[in-house]
Amino acid sequence: MKRKKWILMLTLCTSLVLGTVVTSVAATGPAPAQPMAQECGNCGQMRLLNQYQYGQWVYMGTTICEKRPGRLDEEYKRPVFVSVKCGNCGFTADLTTIWEKKVVCNH
Ligand SMILES: [Zn+2]
Ligand SMILES: [Zn+2]
Repeated sequence: MKRKKWILMLTLCTSLVLGTVVTSVAATGPAPAQPMAQECGNCGQMRLLNQYQYGQWVYMGTTICEKRPGRLDEEYKRPVFVSVKCGNCGFTADLTTIWEKKVVCNH
């Protein structure tokens, strides 16, 4: 009996939970150490997990090297598509796209 009530409460909070995920992903980057299971809005099980799909690195141009001023490094970025997937019913939803940046230093 207690458990049923708890699930109902979680259902009511689902949209709020999804909203929180978007902000925390944008703030902390694409690789949280411990993914937290969330409740699926479709089947109601706690099997909703974040998924990250990485696009191709895109060459952005050169940037001044931080270690050796006067030299140039190459800058790249790639899109990271963030979505959630339910491990129980397969329900998926896109959350957001974030851009990851890297600098290649070859000297
Ligand atoms: Zn589900
Ligand atoms: Zn460099």
